[in-house]
Amino acid sequence: MFLFGVRIDNLLIGEALEKIEAFLRDGRQHYIVLPYADFLVQARKDASFKKILNGAGLSLSDGIGPVIASHVIGEENLRGRVMGVDLIWAIFEKLGSRKVFLFGAKEGVAQKAAQKVWQQEPSARIVGITNGYVNDKEAIDLINRSEAEILLVALGMPKQEKWIYDNLKMMPSVKIAIGVGGAFDFISGHARRAPRVIQKIGLEWLWRLFARPSRWRKTWRSIFVFSAAVLKEKFL
Ligand code: UDP
Repeated sequence: MFLFGVRIDNLLIGEALEKIEAFLRDGRQHYIVLPYADFLVQARKDASFKKILNGAGLSLSDGIGPVIASHVIGEENLRGRVMGVDLIWAIFEKLGSRKVFLFGAKEGVAQKAAQKVWQQEPSARIVGITNGYVNDKEAIDLINRSEAEILLVALGMPKQEKWIYDNLKMMPSVKIAIGVGGAFDFISGHARRAPRVIQKIGLEWLWRLFARPSRWRKTWRSIFVFSAAVLKEKFL
């Protein structure tokens, strides 16, 4: 289904994982995007970003915003969200034999996230890690040397989606690249996630806002600009 011209696949996490398994078997390269409200706001004014989102092998709603919007203006209702952090854990649980590379976040954060993953899934094959402030060539060389099959890219949106789109072909071992935003910050414990109940009722954005007031601009776009766009679409 489409919201503001951006494709979102109406899948739950188990179905998304089946699709990922199929991608890993077909020998081709794929990338996955995890839009939330701010992605759709951004895509409305950035045609190249929209094109990248719509070219993804899978597009899953990371946020509650697109799910609510689908009920208001969508041609079908999204059945739920698939949060990036949950998808990452599911990949380590269900696809543990696949080689994974963690690229992004500040120095040391992805390393800490890897340690958390190994505590939970000791056999996880994290074959390489680098922070998100190295130059492109350095990152690509490290990824190629690791022969990773799954690449998690945490550079924030839209940078990570553009990076994947521009560079995927240069990393032939990578079969699946996923833009995961702030996921390493959460998994490492650098940024604390909201309690599960707050996540469940869709108020994690409010929690994050209080935890990091610098996110105000992003939150403003996600909540108010997005809601206004949805209401305009519905009533005008
Ligand atoms: N980041 C990075 N390199 C950059 C810009 C950002 O590694 O050049 C990282 C940043 O450290 C953070 C993540 O990208 O870990 C972005 O997190 P944020 O929560 O802002 O992303 P969002 O989920 O909103 O896309």
